[in-house]
Amino acid sequence: MVSRVVFGRGSFNQLGDILTPKRLNTKAPFIFLIDDVFKGNSLMTSRIPLAYDDQLIFISADEEPKTSQVDELVEKIILSYKDRPSGIIGIGGGTILDLAKAVAIMLTNEGEAKDYQGWDLVKTPAIYHVGIPTISGTGAEVSRTTVLTGPEKKLGINSDYTPFDQVILDPELTTGVPKDQWFYTGMDCYIHCIESLNGTYLNAFSKSYGEKAFQLCREIFIEDTLSETEAQDQLMMASWHGGMSIAYSQVGVAHAMSYGLSYLLGTKHGIGNCIVFDHLEEFYPEGVELFKQMKKKHGIELPQGLCANLHDDEFDIMIDVALGLVPLWENALGKNWQQKMTREKLKSLYQKM
Ligand code: NAD
Ligand code: ZN
Repeated sequence: MVSRVVFGRGSFNQLGDILTPKRLNTKAPFIFLIDDVFKGNSLMTSRIPLAYDDQLIFISADEEPKTSQVDELVEKIILSYKDRPSGIIGIGGGTILDLAKAVAIMLTNEGEAKDYQGWDLVKTPAIYHVGIPTISGTGAEVSRTTVLTGPEKKLGINSDYTPFDQVILDPELTTGVPKDQWFYTGMDCYIHCIESLNGTYLNAFSKSYGEKAFQLCREIFIEDTLSETEAQDQLMMASWHGGMSIAYSQVGVAHAMSYGLSYLLGTKHGIGNCIVFDHLEEFYPEGVELFKQMKKKHGIELPQGLCANLHDDEFDIMIDVALGLVPLWENALGKNWQQKMTREKLKSLYQKM
């Protein structure tokens, strides 16, 4: 679990106070990884409390994080400083938050990031790391994973050392998010709830968090009762609760298939989940029906025909990636999932997208 969290509009201003006691010495910098959408945005950058040798690194979120990107960042940091940094601070969406978590882990663990893709492979605690989301939905701010695309697979570094030591939830930071992106990333949260609440791994904790997040998503995306700022606040809370729900259980069919799309075609997580989920009535009938209502209400058009011109070997790559995510299928379909989800069935689903 994340051990410390502050929530509230304007709480980003507390960053300096939070970091000061965590500085190891004046030669051990804080490294800020920040989404390059904030380049030139002095309202954001002027509030980052840089001191001594601290460094601000702008990173594009156009592509999802790769293991090689993590390795490059770690090497750059190691070569730049004699001392190990005091901490890594990620400021951005799921892409930047995951990079920050992975870099913090790889600064204390030998080898390459790809060696740690899987469950509980990290042996040494990461350095101090802080997450500050600027868009809501993924739950990356709270989860025990950092999802990375490696040379062989798209899979997270899932470990007890992955969660942030500190999170700052300031809904004001989400103000500039474009509408489509707001919907896609918000739907990631909604889909987390549906997959968790309808999974076989469901338990008292995942249920209570999932139900809360689901209720918030309904308020935000269906019922028109919230002001803009209330909706920002609530979506940040929903993201947290959705993330907690899957931390106690697991995601399901939409995520497994979306990982396949992303691995082959580079489709980003939020939109990829939406494209897949739109075709999953068979598995999540009520969830998909509500999703279609939300899509209509917000005038969202999803891309069609993504897989129309793919060859058999390309379908095979997506199917291999998706079927490799055993816990997701087991959660979604139970212990005998392999009888329910065959390669042929998966292919026919992909062909609709
Ligand atoms: P993102 O980080 O990829 O950002 C999406 C877009 O929104 C980018 O163009 C970004 O620049 C922009 N953006 C972010 N904040 C903004 C702001 N305040 N104003 C204007 N633009 C802003 O999107 P995401 O959906 O948050 O993250 C997706 C990533 O999260 C994927 O890599 C996925 O694998 C990962 N993920 C991780 C977990 C986890 O538990 N670790 C869970 C779900 C998803
Ligand atoms: Zn997700």
